[in-house]
Amino acid sequence: MKYLELVKIYEELEKTTKRLEKTEIISKLLKKTSKENLPIIMLLIEGRLFPNWDEREIGVASRLVIKTISIASGIDAFRVENEWKKTGDLGLVAENLIKTKKQRTLDFQELTIKKVFTNLRKLAELEGAGTVERKVQLVAELLTSAEALEAKYIVRTVLQELRVGVGEGSIRDAIGWAFFPSKFGLRYNKKENKIEVDNLEEYNKYANAVQKAFDVTNDFSVVAETAKTKGIGGLNKMKLSVGIPIKVMLALKVDNVEEGFERCGRPAEVEYKYDGFRMQIHKKNDDVEIFTRRLENVTNRFPEVVRCIKKYVKGKEFIIDSEAVGYSRKTGDYLPFQSISQRIKRKYDIERMSEEFPVEVNVFDVLYYEGKNMLNEPFKERHSLLNKIIKKQPKEIIIAKSLTTSKNKDVEKFYKEAIHEGNEGIMFKKLDAPYKPGARVGYMVKYKGQQEGVDAVITRAEWGQGKRANWLSSFTIACIDEDGNFLEIGKVGTGIKEKTEEGVSFEELTKLLNPLITSEEGKEVKLKPQIVIEVEYEEIQKSPTYDSGFALRFPRLIRLRNLDKKPKDATSMDYIKKLYEKQKK
Ligand code: AMP
Repeated sequence: MKYLELVKIYEELEKTTKRLEKTEIISKLLKKTSKENLPIIMLLIEGRLFPNWDEREIGVASRLVIKTISIASGIDAFRVENEWKKTGDLGLVAENLIKTKKQRTLDFQELTIKKVFTNLRKLAELEGAGTVERKVQLVAELLTSAEALEAKYIVRTVLQELRVGVGEGSIRDAIGWAFFPSKFGLRYNKKENKIEVDNLEEYNKYANAVQKAFDVTNDFSVVAETAKTKGIGGLNKMKLSVGIPIKVMLALKVDNVEEGFERCGRPAEVEYKYDGFRMQIHKKNDDVEIFTRRLENVTNRFPEVVRCIKKYVKGKEFIIDSEAVGYSRKTGDYLPFQSISQRIKRKYDIERMSEEFPVEVNVFDVLYYEGKNMLNEPFKERHSLLNKIIKKQPKEIIIAKSLTTSKNKDVEKFYKEAIHEGNEGIMFKKLDAPYKPGARVGYMVKYKGQQEGVDAVITRAEWGQGKRANWLSSFTIACIDEDGNFLEIGKVGTGIKEKTEEGVSFEELTKLLNPLITSEEGKEVKLKPQIVIEVEYEEIQKSPTYDSGFALRFPRLIRLRNLDKKPKDATSMDYIKKLYEKQKK
């Protein structure tokens, strides 16, 4: 298949904001894609080169792409950079500059999706001396053969920002629409932007089968291939694999105890909400692997956790879900997440770090045990299995402290204890609910008391003045709407420290944000929306200043969330509206 064919699909997708129309476009593409190309298309349609769970990264920064555009277009890198500052999109820059370049060389080859995919994948595999030059060469080779429009999307894929607005929901539905339409009878009415389905029950059955297959594999390529070749029977047989991380279930927020019970029913289980970071732990025979909430493999950073899993958890093969919390060896008290966050990134002195910043694993769920998929078992059953398989060892591994109750009073007391012991709040768990990977459903909800902050993404910043002249010092933040757009809601300048030892500093933020600058004008820089921070505020107001229509009054940075949250995990605009309405009351 020619890459240009896919590029035309990208263009169609970019033109519409309607989710159903996008689904229709993708489903038509899937229908005509050969079995051989299907796995590649499933990745490229989302701008990916590897599935969700795969950690390999392309690792090509904007600077390098500027160099390759310059080589391919024959235009000076300085001019490429200037063009980039105007639009903030190197894809568009590549398109425009390659359009103006001279005739193609005689040895020019038409690009296929396979060629683009293989070259780009190689980027992630290069290591050692000469890597940078090889990367430039690989991308430049593609751009030299590319037509202008192709160049636009090659560059965007390299930079991992496809900007065509394709979400997982559209892809999941497109698989059903492409491979099973005869089972339920489906028509998309473009004019009214709705679908008509002859047999809704069947439609839901197939959509669920696709979703469940994705839940356990975390990979649309294998799901689409199975749907095409083995039908619903094949999808229903797909299994969790130990060693391949699945998405973690996410929590909704509630503002009071009553609302917690409304969501999770009575009785519900309440648990301490530990202030650490998520660890999805896999074990098969003697191999233990640890994944973060972002599905990064951090096994080699936590040798003490590997040892303790082997020693204190019964079973040959399992996947458990937990929160690792730091504590002080001196006092035994829990420490806030910030104090152990360095362990996630640290690559050397690992044993010393585990001595200085030890963690306790607080297990709260089990997803797979001795060949059995536990995702669809009720929480109550999963929890009781935990009690059978974990030998509790305080300060090494425990089961999250919990209480099953129907009474608000019990929960209020439990909440106070949780806070008193240095935790963030409590979680409510619905006793009869399954485990829904990646979903923010009300099967588990968090309650952090009145002082709940929001998780926002930094989209712009300003260079400081005087002694802060080398630092970014004022940060515009945004929340996310249901289509994945970042809408700005305020500017944060407080809560940030002058010195790194005291907490999150201007220097630390500047280091994180500097590589994400996409354009600069005067003192202001625009940023790739990547860094998530937690922010506290006094009040939410309506405001014409920001494109969300709201503004946080007196926002203050509480902590960085970039290690455990992706931009799409930012607080939703719906939730901001809900908070605003509540406050009015
Ligand atoms: P938040 O990060 O504020 O969205 O809250 C959800 C996170 O709380 C989860 O992703 C876990 O990392 C963490 N957490 C701490 N204790 C628990 C618990 N007992 N059950 C589930 N999640 C927990």
